[in-house]
Amino acid sequence: RLPESFVYSANASRVVFGAGSVGRVGEEVDRLRLQRVLVLSTPQQEDFALTVASRLAAKSVGVFSGAAMHTPVNVTEQAMRDIQEKDVDGLVAIGGGSTTGLSKALALRTDLPQIAIPTTYAGSEMTPILGETANGQKKTITSPKVLPEVVIYDVDLTLSLPVALSGTSGINAIAHAVEALYAQDRNPIIDLMAGEAICALAKALPTIKLDQENREARSLALYGAWLAGTCLGAVGMSLHHKLCHTLGGTFDLPHAETHTIMLPHALAYNAPAVPEAIGRLKRVLETDDPSLALYELAGQVGAVRALKDIGMPEEGLGQARALALSNPYWNPRQLDEDRIGRLLHRAYAGLPPL
Ligand code: NAD
Repeated sequence: RLPESFVYSANASRVVFGAGSVGRVGEEVDRLRLQRVLVLSTPQQEDFALTVASRLAAKSVGVFSGAAMHTPVNVTEQAMRDIQEKDVDGLVAIGGGSTTGLSKALALRTDLPQIAIPTTYAGSEMTPILGETANGQKKTITSPKVLPEVVIYDVDLTLSLPVALSGTSGINAIAHAVEALYAQDRNPIIDLMAGEAICALAKALPTIKLDQENREARSLALYGAWLAGTCLGAVGMSLHHKLCHTLGGTFDLPHAETHTIMLPHALAYNAPAVPEAIGRLKRVLETDDPSLALYELAGQVGAVRALKDIGMPEEGLGQARALALSNPYWNPRQLDEDRIGRLLHRAYAGLPPL
């Protein structure tokens, strides 16, 4: 059913998708008229970055490979020194959400143009959102300045993404699309993208678990991750993202794993209030029970399904519940203290959603 009125704002970025597309990075650097590009990565993916820098030859001033989880401000400051000393005029970020985060933090400070080359399914490259950490506190900023100008999706770079991280990173992407389906500012265009994203990822992830280098499944997953990232960048998120943000920030739980565990529970909680979203999920997942299907998908990809197994302390559940209910935010279903408490206990124990 088409809503009577809605607002759709598209984030402007150019997407180059396809196997081997990292080979087009030089063309994209030229299109942006860049002469002195800094290539960013994590220490683990420095070899990816060095390959890109060598492709760019004289147009690259080198590699900064210090990107780290949660975008620590001290790392950004180190990279800022490189930018000033080397008179950098553009950024190429190759890696997952951590590397994209560093690039965005630099763009926020300098307005330098960015080319993002994602190698996970986190989707940060499609959003104007940046989470930065200073003195142990994570702060979220939304600014069009941080949105990369160009995104190159090359399936070949995702073949090495470990199977375990592929599964949880993919379900992290599904979570963006699921919450987009019941966002307060949802619209029919984002609904289409969300449905397509969930369908693509749910099909691809079990195949990747069995066959890590299956190019067809890897392509489908990367396509799904792009669309899911677009959803995250376009509409507001609710209970699920709030819970994950709280658990990740307060108890230092790993990002993608936490999303994977919480998604079936958060969806089951909101289900009675969002019949249209549930209808679409039933169609795209070909199931009568989307929350249970997502719990089973997590099992199929071999993901951990209990908070207790990723470092959540049982005595922290009360605090998690209190934090989830503090700083009110929009959610399609009213937040009920007892129900949220029960949800957290089930997620802690790894039980199926209720
Ligand atoms: P990540 O970027 O931290 O990567 C995890 C590890 O896997 C790193 O060591 C990385 O080098 C390695 N890796 C990545 N791709 C690889 C590949 N293809 N082959 C081999 N190793 C590879 O993890 P992530 O889940 O992509 O990102 C998580 C971060 O992104 C979090 O800090 C999260 O808050 C942020 N995030 C931000 C947004 C946003 O819109 N701002 C959206 C999603 C996630």
